[in-house]
Amino acid sequence: MLVVMKAQATREEVQAVCDQIEAMGYRAHPLPGAQRTAIGITGNQGEIERGNLEEMSGVAEVIRVSKPYKLVSRDVKEDDTILRFPGTNATIGGKNLAMIAGPCSIESREQAFAIAEHVAHAGAQFFRGGAYKPRTSPYAFQGLGEEALKIMAEIRDRFGLRIVTEAIDHEALELVAEYADVIQIGARNMQNYSLLKAAGRKRKPVLLKRGLAATLDEFLMAAEYIMSEGNYEVVLCERGVRTFADHTRNTLDLSIVPAVQRLSHLPIIVDPSHGTGKRNKVLPLARAAVAVGADGLIIEVHHQPDKALSDGIQSILPEQFTQLMDECSQIAAVLHRAVPRGVQVEAGAAAAAR
Ligand code: PEP
Ligand code: MN
Repeated sequence: MLVVMKAQATREEVQAVCDQIEAMGYRAHPLPGAQRTAIGITGNQGEIERGNLEEMSGVAEVIRVSKPYKLVSRDVKEDDTILRFPGTNATIGGKNLAMIAGPCSIESREQAFAIAEHVAHAGAQFFRGGAYKPRTSPYAFQGLGEEALKIMAEIRDRFGLRIVTEAIDHEALELVAEYADVIQIGARNMQNYSLLKAAGRKRKPVLLKRGLAATLDEFLMAAEYIMSEGNYEVVLCERGVRTFADHTRNTLDLSIVPAVQRLSHLPIIVDPSHGTGKRNKVLPLARAAVAVGADGLIIEVHHQPDKALSDGIQSILPEQFTQLMDECSQIAAVLHRAVPRGVQVEAGAAAAAR
């Protein structure tokens, strides 16, 4: 059920409706839009008792939502969600594309700083780097943990880049939420519902990667888990799915971008690095992702990919990232979108991780 408020409804009227919903034993999710605020109702098992909601001041209408996902749906919020990073010009969603780049894993301070300098120079606004790595082998490099988070916090201070890093479990989530600007939930955890709910209780944006074999509905329901806990800042990420194809690591399903955009107001970005697993395919698929309307890209970059401790074969070189930024900017312009160059940080905002 969804309560649509009138365009001129006051903040007090919205609050009164939320209070009434909570008093009925449900949870209220006010989602302000460009035209009006809609309030999603969750926590019900069956049909919701409408009570006097329809009669309350400021209410335009009360609608039944038939889709299984409610808060991610455009029924609740028509206009695109745009995530903002206070004190900076960085955004995810809307007209500007979000460019996230960095190594698969943080391997050392020197490695991370060398790559951060390149990607900042090329104009990225976000830096990615794994501190906790979900590896197929328990004997493979597992990440530097908190040490890596500290290195990335230094990178934010030095270059202004906003930090995106993965939380592989509840323990990592606590630390990642403390240090990072965006909490990444990896493909393998897309259906780890307890982790999704815990991320939903954090007040930091969450980058949710599509599961290795997840359908569109399963992907959106995973986002719904995060939003159902009150965190409305979710970014979806297509990173390729398993198919019979063996010329690439995964098959990048670019058709999910317009499919998501039809159903959901949430931004969706594309990861052509994990999506292809091959350095020479990252640039072509990055171009295609922008052309199909993705709201941004997440790209693995390494200055010495042969020595990388994870995903070296799919990491592009810094100069290739510069080329990617240039070409993607031109493609974005055809779609009346833009790739902002560099992150501007207001004085005093650099150190604050929101
Ligand atoms: C990553 O971003 O390094 C990663 C492990 O991604 P995914 O969860 O998509 O495999
Ligand atoms: Mn990787």
